[in-house]
Amino acid sequence: MADARVLLGRPVARAINDATSERAAEFALKNNRPPLLAVLVSPDPASESYLKTIRLNAKKVSAEIREIPIRPDMGLTELSGQVTNLNEDDSVDGILVQTPLPDGVKAEQVGRVLNSAKDVDGVTPYQSGLLFRGAQSAMVPSTARAVIEILDYYRYGLEGLEVIVVGRSLVIGKPVGILALGRNATVTWCHSKTKGLPGICKRAEILIAAIGRANMIDSKYVRPSATVIDVGINVDEGGNLVGDVKADDIKSIATAYTPVPGGVGPVTTACLFDNLLKAAALRQSVST
Ligand code: NAP
Repeated sequence: MADARVLLGRPVARAINDATSERAAEFALKNNRPPLLAVLVSPDPASESYLKTIRLNAKKVSAEIREIPIRPDMGLTELSGQVTNLNEDDSVDGILVQTPLPDGVKAEQVGRVLNSAKDVDGVTPYQSGLLFRGAQSAMVPSTARAVIEILDYYRYGLEGLEVIVVGRSLVIGKPVGILALGRNATVTWCHSKTKGLPGICKRAEILIAAIGRANMIDSKYVRPSATVIDVGINVDEGGNLVGDVKADDIKSIATAYTPVPGGVGPVTTACLFDNLLKAAALRQSVST
């Protein structure tokens, strides 16, 4: 069997960024300033790599970013205070709180403080609720949306297919499964307590790995002709970025897969800025 098709993220990201740039230019003209994304920056190697792509993407679409470092000793009160300041700052159009958060602080707790109108990564209960209800207006978490954007761009339909998602986080695993369900896929979520994981994954026509375990998904998990989407971004012992999927092992079995780096990552950042413009436009329509 020929090697699987590599689903590159860059062309998908470019198409999204082109549209976002136009909207950012219109926004700047109307407001005499570019749209502004505030990022609470997590001190973590994978988050640092994400931040670099955010900076690059901001330049591409002519948006501004404001970086606020999260210190490892920051507690919930201080972090919530930072978020509240940004909520009230009219020059801030969107807020992204990176994870992992300091020990003892949960993403759900911070999500409860964040103004849902500035929630560009869909972590607030309000935005999660809209997504759960299938509302078009929902602010969809960027990474989950990126997975669907890639499948759409390369014309892999989801209807009627068996989709297995490994991971059930608030920002990736859960929402990507909900989005696939909205496209009429039959969805199963797996997690660290799932029994017989390789056998379940082997049923997948579309396998989505959002685990955070370097190279965990190998040929034992992949059904012949499956499409494999690797969401994981991990830093190995050599300091290299690697996914959750062992690409060399699965590429002679799968039909198509996303590489790491260069797959879901760039599309995630493009979706983040698209969400930023959506949030900025919505706030304007409310205030006028
Ligand atoms: P997370 O909150 O740590 O969630 C990981 C999920 O994987 C959990 O649901 C966990 O199960 C499950 N899991 C962990 N070990 C497992 C195992 N051995 N077998 C089966 N399931 C297991 O992580 P996340 O925020 O969703 O991120 C997932 C990955 O995506 C990370 O590598 C992260 O760096 C990456 N990421 C990528 C992008 C991108 O643009 N590509 C953006 C953000 C994050 P439990 O719920 O049972 O603990």
